[in-house]
Amino acid sequence: MNESTVVNIGDLCVYCAKSTAMGSGLFVNRIGADSQWKTMNDELVWVDGWMCAECQEEGDRLAELYNPDWKMEYDD
Ligand SMILES: [Zn+2]
Repeated sequence: MNESTVVNIGDLCVYCAKSTAMGSGLFVNRIGADSQWKTMNDELVWVDGWMCAECQEEGDRLAELYNPDWKMEYDD
């Protein structure tokens, strides 16, 4: 197990694994992001990819629930 391994997943969203490639409909509002994924061997690896607009909306919704102030900073 090598915790420093970073896997580049290309155009995939690190949260929902949908493609954010040009023409996918999720390309425009994607932002660079990384996260940890569990492999088939139950190892955690860092993945370097994107966060699609749908997951950003989900994040905003959760942020409003747990920390209403956070969203205001995020929008600046
Ligand atoms: Zn996503």
